[in-house]
Amino acid sequence: MIVVQSFTFNLFEEKTFVVWDETGEGVIIDPGCHAQSERDKLIRFIEEKKITLRFLLNTHGHIDHIVGNEFVKKQWNLPFIAHKFIVKEIEKAKEYGHLYEMALSNPPFPDEYADAGSKILFGNTVFDVLYTPGHALSHISFYEAASKSLFSGDVLFQMGIGRWDLPGGNVEVLLESIRAQLLPLPPETVVYCGHGDTTTIGLEKRMNPYINGYYSV
Ligand SMILES: [Zn+2]
Repeated sequence: MIVVQSFTFNLFEEKTFVVWDETGEGVIIDPGCHAQSERDKLIRFIEEKKITLRFLLNTHGHIDHIVGNEFVKKQWNLPFIAHKFIVKEIEKAKEYGHLYEMALSNPPFPDEYADAGSKILFGNTVFDVLYTPGHALSHISFYEAASKSLFSGDVLFQMGIGRWDLPGGNVEVLLESIRAQLLPLPPETVVYCGHGDTTTIGLEKRMNPYINGYYSV
């Protein structure tokens, strides 16, 4: 069964997740570590828990989710997996990163692409890849069925949804991703969001004002 540790990194308070199982193998999702102290924290944690990282995964290519990619890929020599549309987003992030004092010097590009239906395997764990555009064109989410865990990046938040006003965003597409891909998951599914607290599919189905139409967009 997987264990999940979250870190809150960079000025966007982005959530970076380290996920591992009983074999000691794991993955890192959306490394937003930027300051040296954040990098050190991650290194210390991985060493302390004796985790063997297998993959670097990105939900999408916004700067706050990818700013630590170069460091993580080099530090642990990991294959990087993301959706193919992330390439353009990484190129864009390289152009605007300095505006947030998060200049990317040499951001890595994916070694392998994932899309709807892909499976990512490490240890005894299987991540199912869901394609969930609407916040960003490249956006994928990771679902782990055995523990009913969803890593939803910036698609679904506790009582909220991701921004749709950024390049590649579209609110109709975003709501359709949530309705078609996420809400059919078991209600007890724990949702690990790219910002803010965790939630569950059942809670969001009942209470999320965007999903229930109380908040019209
Ligand atoms: Zn984003």
